Amino acid sequence: MAQLSDDCFAQGGPLMRVDEARKLLAEVISPVTASEAVALHQALGRILAEDIVSPVAIPPAPNSAVDGFAVYHADLDPEQETRLPVTGRIAAGQLDLPEAGRGTAVRIFTGARLPEGPDTVMMQEDCTLDGETVVIRPGIKKGANARRAGEDVEIGATVLQAGQRLRAQDVGQAAAVGRREVMVSTRLRVGLFSTGDELREPGAKLDPGAIYDSNRYTIHALLTGLGCQVDDLGILPDRFDAVRAALGRAKGKYDLLVTSGGVSVGEEDHVKAAVEALGKLHLWRLAVKPGRPIALGQVGLVPFVGLPGNPVAVVVTFLTIVRPLILRLMGGRDVAPHTFRVRAGFDHKKKKDRREWIRAHLEEDGAGGLTARKFPREGAGILSSLVAADGLIELPEDLTRLEAGAMVDFLPFSEVAQ
Ligand code: AMP
Ligand code: MG
Repeated sequence: MAQLSDDCFAQGGPLMRVDEARKLLAEVISPVTASEAVALHQALGRILAEDIVSPVAIPPAPNSAVDGFAVYHADLDPEQETRLPVTGRIAAGQLDLPEAGRGTAVRIFTGARLPEGPDTVMMQEDCTLDGETVVIRPGIKKGANARRAGEDVEIGATVLQAGQRLRAQDVGQAAAVGRREVMVSTRLRVGLFSTGDELREPGAKLDPGAIYDSNRYTIHALLTGLGCQVDDLGILPDRFDAVRAALGRAKGKYDLLVTSGGVSVGEEDHVKAAVEALGKLHLWRLAVKPGRPIALGQVGLVPFVGLPGNPVAVVVTFLTIVRPLILRLMGGRDVAPHTFRVRAGFDHKKKKDRREWIRAHLEEDGAGGLTARKFPREGAGILSSLVAADGLIELPEDLTRLEAGAMVDFLPFSEVAQ
């Protein structure tokens, strides 16, 4: 299996902008996963590892887009009704086609092959039948309702490209060109830990001052949503030797190791020292709020990500840094998610030169647009603020003051976190 080059996360500069961080990841991260064939029902959400070229034309032959009557456009009177005898009938899947001579109409159904000759199909709703004669209104355009062979996909066309993440319609496209299986990147195997002596497993008794571990569940879900195969390796205590031993044991089994907590510079933050003892570690001080720092490094040659401890910082750094990193490790491309313009429903002051994300939910503004409302409590520890939010407003580095009514970029969770 391919691995990262040694010390690929090394970087200079004290505060890194998000764009810089993403550019660096794009430069240094190469895919580490192999590829495997999966059946189409297993392909959703996977990253395609081959270009899919169509061996067939879609549709394979000219056919009708509606139920109606196939005619020669040149037989129609442009000014008044035309009466044509109905001389044949063609259903979808029928191979033996009737003759369709000039001056006649053929009854035809959606998806049925067009016979040789007729170039236009009149919708049945726009015709009346008078015995065996169809009466056609004037005004239809030549070629209307007639589908050309290959108008959807030509033979030899690349319909899906290596590196794209397969959505429902992409899986359908593979089926449409006759594939039963596709080659996809193998799932990234991720080992996941939380760190902190205050953390307890959900369901366990909470002694005074302890809290339930939520990050591991959030991160597990985010990783699974990206198509990773995640092993939940539990909670590590705030002890250097225990963290080092656990990471050392895990390194041979995974493509990526992820922790949360313990990467600040406090005395009880042992993750940094433990990773340094086993490999390399770099604290990326991102020019962002909330979220910094994030630790990136290698345990041996296995990439390592140390996420912050605060639950909101976890999600924001995951979406901005870890998500593109993981997609790239799995051979994905075009990793930046789309944001959408919405109206800000609040004033906000911010520091220059850092990017800020504000948790917000969307409301209809009554004029066909959407207004983003900010959650009242902003702390990086307030997980319920994320639960209440539909997504994050992204405020650029150069902005210092946002006024209610201004248009802002909104990143919906539906785009990235599911
Ligand atoms: P740390 O970075 O370890 O100092 O943690 C920062 C804050 O996040 C502290 O308030 C921790 O209690 C909290 N925290 C750390 N890990 C978790 C976790 N897994 N689940 C919930 N909160 C956490
Ligand atoms: Mg901690």
